[in-house]
Amino acid sequence: MTPPTKGRTTGPAEAVVDLAAYRANLAVLRAAAPTALQMAVVKADAYGHGAVEISRAARQAGAEWLGVATIEEAAALRRGGDRGPVLAWLSPAGADLAPAIDAGVDVAAGSTAQLEAVLGAGATTRPRVHLKVDTGMARGGVRGAELSALFEAARAAQDAGSIEIVGIFSHLACADEPASPVNTAQEHAFGEAVAELASYGVEPELRHLANSAATLTRPSVHHDLVRVGIASYGISPGPTLGTPADLRLTPVMTLRTALSLVRRVPPGTGVSYGHTYVTKRETTLGLVPVGYGDGILRAASNAASAWVNGTLVPIAGRVCMDQVVLDLGDLAAERGDEVVLFGAGTRGEPIAEDWAAAAGTIGYEVVTRLGGRIVRTYVDAT
Ligand SMILES: *Cc1c(COP(=O)(O)O)cnc(C)c1O
Repeated sequence: MTPPTKGRTTGPAEAVVDLAAYRANLAVLRAAAPTALQMAVVKADAYGHGAVEISRAARQAGAEWLGVATIEEAAALRRGGDRGPVLAWLSPAGADLAPAIDAGVDVAAGSTAQLEAVLGAGATTRPRVHLKVDTGMARGGVRGAELSALFEAARAAQDAGSIEIVGIFSHLACADEPASPVNTAQEHAFGEAVAELASYGVEPELRHLANSAATLTRPSVHHDLVRVGIASYGISPGPTLGTPADLRLTPVMTLRTALSLVRRVPPGTGVSYGHTYVTKRETTLGLVPVGYGDGILRAASNAASAWVNGTLVPIAGRVCMDQVVLDLGDLAAERGDEVVLFGAGTRGEPIAEDWAAAAGTIGYEVVTRLGGRIVRTYVDAT
């Protein structure tokens, strides 16, 4: 990645997205699941990285599929020029599915009501459907006696030429804890659901269960396709799996800005709302022009660190809506100096997981929350 120029920002803050790092992460995930097709998950604007740019990079890297939550997200990919296989797995009540189906987007049915919504959508193209099974997450999908009702209705619809059953899938609840017995239970339940569907004479081309964590740790659930999200962005699915470096992943996003004000204050200076931080000695405070209005986690108040002139410096006091104060100590710094909130970690800067740990959340939320006034820019090292 091009080293950012000192003090140069295009807005209050810049999220620099390294597309070469993203493609390299997909290659690592491909090597971890060499026999499965790869679905690059780009929901929620590619976890805050920008769905159109990321999806192009995913196709360049050879991802056969793109996965999104909503049909609006799928439509945005089509508007961005993507023509390849896309699955949108959420089916909110009242959603107009026809434009997505007619744009060649695969949809999911996780209940007979959702299947009816697909059948009644009024699409001119025959809908391509992935049947969603709840194997233990208790979120979407059919479970227990609902399985046979959905499978029977889907088979009948397929026999009538009204749909094509392309896939059967489920989602793991505890994949980031590879030793959890829940993984084994879900794996077995999925196998049983696939067998039950086969007993209706339906053997879809794509059985899929694995997310990033299972792609990296559980080959027995790779099946025909793996759905990789968080790890493709260079963020570890969870502390049990190790750091991105342990997993040979490179963080894709660097969140950077510049100090907008630097000044010396005496001991006993209360900083930011509520004075939850009081300087113990004379020190330098640096003002950073981003806050929770941009998705910076307020829970990181007094907890996370940023990187200024080669040094990790703590957040002083509460994260505000538009600003954060750093305690720079005796560090030499001036207005315009670069501040890296998190990045690849290769220069000593924090990574998204450090902010997650400081704020009591997961790396997913750190990047996905970003928005507001943050400007995204793209670099591509190759
Ligand atoms: C978000 C999501 C994924 C990707 O999960 P990661 O942990 O980010 O790899 C896969 N499948 C479904 C159904 C999802 O909702």
